[in-house]
Amino acid sequence: MTSLGINNGHALPSKGGALPLPAPAPAPHLVNATYLSADEISAWQPYPPPDAGDGLTPKQRTVKRIKAAGQWAPWQMIGRRMAIGCVALEITQRCNLDCSYCYLSESSEALKDIPLEEVTRRIDMIFAHYGPNTDVQVTGGDPTLRKRDELIAIVRYVKSKGMRASLFTNGIKATRELLSELCEAGLEDVAFHVDKTQERTGYASEADLNAVREEYIERARGLPLAVIFNTTVCPDNFHEIPALAKFFVRHHDVVRFASFQVGADMGRGVEGHDDARGRMTVNPQTVMAAIREGAQANLHFDAASAGHAQCNGYAFGLVINNKVHDFFNDPVFVQAILASSANITIDRAKKAGVWCTAAGYLVRHPSTLLGVITRFAKLAWRERRDLIAARGRVGKISFFVHNFMDSAQLEKERCDACSFMVMTPDGPISMCVHNAKRDNYLLVPAKVTRHNKILYFNPVTGLFDDRIPQKIEVALSRKNARGRAKGKLDGGSDVIAVSRADDAATAAAATAATTTTAATTTTAAESRRVQAAE
Ligand code: SF4
Repeated sequence: MTSLGINNGHALPSKGGALPLPAPAPAPHLVNATYLSADEISAWQPYPPPDAGDGLTPKQRTVKRIKAAGQWAPWQMIGRRMAIGCVALEITQRCNLDCSYCYLSESSEALKDIPLEEVTRRIDMIFAHYGPNTDVQVTGGDPTLRKRDELIAIVRYVKSKGMRASLFTNGIKATRELLSELCEAGLEDVAFHVDKTQERTGYASEADLNAVREEYIERARGLPLAVIFNTTVCPDNFHEIPALAKFFVRHHDVVRFASFQVGADMGRGVEGHDDARGRMTVNPQTVMAAIREGAQANLHFDAASAGHAQCNGYAFGLVINNKVHDFFNDPVFVQAILASSANITIDRAKKAGVWCTAAGYLVRHPSTLLGVITRFAKLAWRERRDLIAARGRVGKISFFVHNFMDSAQLEKERCDACSFMVMTPDGPISMCVHNAKRDNYLLVPAKVTRHNKILYFNPVTGLFDDRIPQKIEVALSRKNARGRAKGKLDGGSDVIAVSRADDAATAAAATAATTTTAATTTTAAESRRVQAAE
């Protein structure tokens, strides 16, 4: 590891006694962290298949991992409420936007969509690692660019495994009709990414983009979906975050979750890598403060969190007459609920079921019930005027701040305690590590069985062959270059060749795969190319 000095101020887990809060994460410009070296990133591998013989449940395996990473604490949600925060399932690498902070690889636009068999294999792997009720982010690129019937089949398959499918999209192609069909297939959440970093033509500010957000809100209104908005925060839009938080509060009847990501230097993005200016202005603490300002509530972001204390913050508010009231204002009480409700499974798709489950839990925990009643009664008395104005309606909204790491500045402890995985062909891996070496998982063949034959899909040509392609290389031209690659072409090159980073582990895996192929191909009369072998 490249050591840059002092302790980075990680929160320490409690050892009994009073329930402590995680130490507030220091602003990145104040942190002297220890970063993974290029060799360590290269050697970092996805988690192998869980050992079915270890007798552990997915949650118990997570507890083991989080304890080993020193992050087991009363505020910890993974290992308690869920086995993992969420798992990204990238069903396409193509996108119809070119965001300035994009995490995708430079080679993404040149790649064909992986076959449906490979997608379902990865869904099976998600289930094997994390079990039912896992949040599966159906994402990309933009997942709506995938063939419509395939997208629907993917959502349906996630649902059939007892997991929760969320669609992560920029919304351009997410029509009301498509969302309705996806709901029927079992979609539970839709997350719209809208912000200035996407450089949508004709929108000079976040305030201008509210027209897009309002249109998306209307598309989703009334559907059985939790609506989420994702916003990348950067120095250029930071000053608009309070107004944006206010916008989400105003639309809390549809918007359930507003997620803000601190812009980081990763992928093909052209921003994020510069400067002290960016990190001084935009860091988790300043973003949380901006949200509090906009929501006009002293929201606690540290009562409950998933993974490493420096990776994210989560706040939950009740909304009465468009005013937000911090629901996590007593972190000790929140953490007691977290501990006592660890084994309760809530099926958000069935509203009545949620209420029944909550009621059953409260009946079994009378002291919590008393605490809840007391707190609600106090709130109701204090806010009686607003309650009357709102005709007794109480809404809710969650705010989330996620703090991705720059690809060149990965902290081992945070990667070890990661709550946000990406499912690669070889297993789940921390999203931050994945973003640092995406091509290792993209420029590889996918093995599928069709017509009783083992075939290998080449993601660059989109063709199937019964031999493993020896070299998978992308040639980027002005047509398919995005992000940084576009800049390189503008700098004079005609074509840029991108191939997989040459790391020892990948080379070893390729050797093993080639050995398997040799055995496979001896049974074939001749090697032949199979065009999209449906
Ligand atoms: S993806 Fe990165 S920032 Fe997010 S939880 Fe994992 S290690 Fe932390």
